[in-house]
Amino acid sequence: MQNRVGPSGVTQHEGRSTGARPVFSSLLRGAAHKCPACGQGAMFRRYLKVADICPNCGEVLHHHRADDAPPYFTIVIVGHIVVGLVLAVEMAYRPPLWVHAALWLPLTVILTLVVLPSVKGALIALQWALLMHGFDPDAKEEMGTGFEATLPEASPRRLDFRS
Ligand SMILES: [Zn+2]
Repeated sequence: MQNRVGPSGVTQHEGRSTGARPVFSSLLRGAAHKCPACGQGAMFRRYLKVADICPNCGEVLHHHRADDAPPYFTIVIVGHIVVGLVLAVEMAYRPPLWVHAALWLPLTVILTLVVLPSVKGALIALQWALLMHGFDPDAKEEMGTGFEATLPEASPRRLDFRS
């Protein structure tokens, strides 16, 4: 139960920073794929794989529960961009359908792949700033999934389908 100061100057309490957690700057750091606590360490160790702890300040990041929120918000963002562009080009130039397909299908895929990590980073940073899902330094222990159950031992009897 000792506080320590990480290399970034962020005070740590068992891997959780105890300093202020401003929402907006945390969102910007997360959207830039950076740790919300120090703004230096990489949040992702692979494309969408969140690092368990920040490599720079040691902030614990595995508490996040981004789940399917990043794809949802990515669909909203990319959909508004692409649909707006489709309508604008159609109204201005009335190109044949194959031009639409050649333009918007690749653009949709590329935009999705570019936007998704930033949205996920911003959502995790928001959870961190709002002390959600175990990001609270005063939390007693990490929340379980709620699905743990003690299963009874397997019955020694076996079903016999021969009759
Ligand atoms: Zn950090």
